[in-house]
Amino acid sequence: MMEHVDIFIVGGGMVGTAIAARLGGSGLRIAVLEQSAPAAFDPASAPDLRVSAISPASIKLLQDIGAWQHITAMRSAPYLRMQVWEQKRADGTLFDASEIGAANLGHIVENRIVQLGCTAALAAHDNIELICPDEISQLQIGDGIIQITLQSGRCFTARLLIGADGARSRVREAAAIGLNSHEYPMHAFVATVGIRGGERDITWQRFTPHGPQSLLPLPGDYASLVWYQTAAKVRELMQLDDNALITAFRAEFPDVLPDLSHIISRGSFPLIRRHAQTYIRPGVALAGDAAHTIHPLAGQGVNLGFQDVAALCDVILAAQQQGNEIGALEVLQRYQQRRQLANHAMQRLMDLFCYGFSNDIGPLRFARNLGLKLANRSGPLKKEVIRYALGLQTPEQLFVPALHLFPAR
Ligand SMILES: Cc1cc2nc3c(=O)[nH]c(=O)nc-3n(C[C@H](O)[C@H](O)[C@H](O)COP(=O)(O)OP(=O)(O)OC[C@H]3O[C@@H](n4cnc5c(N)ncnc54)[C@H](O)[C@@H]3O)c2cc1C
Repeated sequence: MMEHVDIFIVGGGMVGTAIAARLGGSGLRIAVLEQSAPAAFDPASAPDLRVSAISPASIKLLQDIGAWQHITAMRSAPYLRMQVWEQKRADGTLFDASEIGAANLGHIVENRIVQLGCTAALAAHDNIELICPDEISQLQIGDGIIQITLQSGRCFTARLLIGADGARSRVREAAAIGLNSHEYPMHAFVATVGIRGGERDITWQRFTPHGPQSLLPLPGDYASLVWYQTAAKVRELMQLDDNALITAFRAEFPDVLPDLSHIISRGSFPLIRRHAQTYIRPGVALAGDAAHTIHPLAGQGVNLGFQDVAALCDVILAAQQQGNEIGALEVLQRYQQRRQLANHAMQRLMDLFCYGFSNDIGPLRFARNLGLKLANRSGPLKKEVIRYALGLQTPEQLFVPALHLFPAR
């Protein structure tokens, strides 16, 4: 039997569940498909490997959709300060939330906990069905028809299909949307570690000629270490035993970090910038990693995804109120106009950091040092950077004029 919904969302990760929760109470009939259920929260467990720095702008969205209360009832680690160093210098730039009167610069949260929080928020709305676990067996897009057949045998038609199914989006592929991509010459080696002592309300980031290194505080006596390195070095790190890995971290990471006691888990991620050539087709929209992936050095990926959520839902709700078709191309174009250039600008900015900082070229080193010193001293500039990190300032406002000087690789 064919079932009909207004919106069918593929992907019940952080972005897909947030879209559905934002549209809760709209009266639109919504289905969210997720292929694998996230494990339930266990307060006795050590934090997961996959974590994200969630900006205050994203926290506001998560509060508005009723997810943040569930997230904080599980666990998260607020951070008030962010220290950035250039190579071995110890006098880096400190960004402090108090400088602009903010409570914090963000929270570090496990991805699964954000997903669980958004999923819990769905329960408040009877217009949303979460279908999990299930998978697509057939997806038909074209001639004004969206038809989704699931492996369970259920079959749907929808007015709007949203692909929130991550970097390898099946929806993007089925809609024949091309991708511009660039593989960075470094991988991210990530480890969740036990820590002793040290300051807990601060994130540290240091730029080295090989790539950045960072430490993010996690709830309890834990932290997440991220080490950007060549694929060969990351393979080496993956094979070290725990004691040798701790020794390698101690030798290469700054001394001021909390002492590392033990390794909980580790993993590595190739780094690829991807940007969908369009976010929309008639009756189809992409959001989050399905539309764009970004170098994670400044922790912007899902924060951009949450900005997509806000823009896409605004456009859908406005169309519904005005009696316009929610899947019409001219409606969805308003979403694309709001997000495509902003995401592109942030991707370019990350390239500037990645390639501008990960080298030992004299003039660039001088410019970086000068930039960090200026950021440290200049009150207004520093406040702008902090506002930017909080998600209160958008990259295109600051950097679009400079994009013409910095062509895509
Ligand atoms: C090392 C690293 C560090 C990062 N740190 C940060 C950070 O600090 N801050 C930040 O903002 N971002 C960070 N990111 C990026 C962030 O993890 C991603 O942007 C985010 O996970 C994207 O969320 P999403 O919901 O769009 O996609 P995903 O998290 O990929 O979720 C997609 C969901 O769709 C489901 N799915 C996929 N295909 C199907 C299908 N066919 N049927 C049903 N379900 C399907 C999947 O199971 C999954 O649950 C980091 C990324 C990396 C690699």
